[in-house]
Amino acid sequence: MSGFNLSDHRRLVVKVGSSLLIGDDGEVRRGWLEGLAENIATLREHSHEVLVVSSGSIAIGSTRLGINKKRARLEELQAAAAAGQVQLVHAWQESLAQHRIAAAQVLLTPGDTENRRRFLNARGTLEKLLDHGVVPIINENDTVATDEIRYGDNDRLAARVAQLVMADALILLSDVDGLYTSDPGSDAGAEHIAEVRKITDEIQAMAGETQSDIGSGGMATKVQAARIATHAGCSTVIASGVIERPLEALAAGGTCTVFRAEGSPAAARKQWLAGVLEVRGELRLDDGAVVALNDGKSLLPVGVVEVTGNFRRGDVVNLVNNHGTELGRGLAEYSSEEATSLAGCQSEQIEARLGYRGRSVMVHRDDLVMFDHD
Ligand code: GLU
Repeated sequence: MSGFNLSDHRRLVVKVGSSLLIGDDGEVRRGWLEGLAENIATLREHSHEVLVVSSGSIAIGSTRLGINKKRARLEELQAAAAAGQVQLVHAWQESLAQHRIAAAQVLLTPGDTENRRRFLNARGTLEKLLDHGVVPIINENDTVATDEIRYGDNDRLAARVAQLVMADALILLSDVDGLYTSDPGSDAGAEHIAEVRKITDEIQAMAGETQSDIGSGGMATKVQAARIATHAGCSTVIASGVIERPLEALAAGGTCTVFRAEGSPAAARKQWLAGVLEVRGELRLDDGAVVALNDGKSLLPVGVVEVTGNFRRGDVVNLVNNHGTELGRGLAEYSSEEATSLAGCQSEQIEARLGYRGRSVMVHRDDLVMFDHD
């Protein structure tokens, strides 16, 4: 039995590599994908939320366009990705549709998860898709990514997505069933590691060198992904996807390596917010808003009495009460200019005030931390 209990983790990010999904002929392995879609449907029936990070666009597209992946230039690979992505998502859409599940394509660039303004947009969209019961099928936006800023591998993209949506578990489906003390391909004495509590240099060393080939992240990038995700409070699992219906096997206690999360996703987000050094402004709140925030609710424009500072959407702002006492801080959903015109405004009036459709909250509850006052 593995030490990973799937049913303890509600929101899951499942990463699927090209080698599992795409055959040597450059076509999607339909039977395998349908098995995985069936697993996803079962998980959703058991109240899990599932987001998929799927590779494969370059593998499909390069075959279609007759491009040799090993010798191709970046722009050829980007063209292959563009041609392959449409096929890839279509295959996902059809497989999930057999279970009456809608799919949505989400293409991200590194900036979407690392730049806070885009981060808020990407997260808002993903949350809404989940609210509507849709399975997001996420890939890197290879067409616009450049050499220097590429994620390089979807393992890391999946970890960033897990952090973005505060997932409880990240499942990296791979062609091996976990981390070994050395490369099991070349060392018969290699031992499987079932659980990692802390990613030490020794653990990173076991994973070996990072490979830079597209679609072949290797073990090193999986461990790096686990480092990002566990730090964000998300447990990470490396499990074999070679078998049919791999998530069913994992749920039944199949062999895997689990990297234990450090704390919960919410605690990690709050710790990060508390540690941000650059605070760009301040929102003074009325007493009703203070009560709501202490109850774990989001801050609505109606509760804001005054806005100071010069900030943009995604910047960190202080939250103070009517006496000027600092209560906490959060990520502003609006710029200081917009926030000023929205202060005291009912949510229904936002569009009329701004002249365009806005968002309903000033600071989302997941993006704020309240300080302890004894
Ligand atoms: N985004 C690339 C693709 O869809 C894959 C990158 C990776 O697998 O790491 O082909």
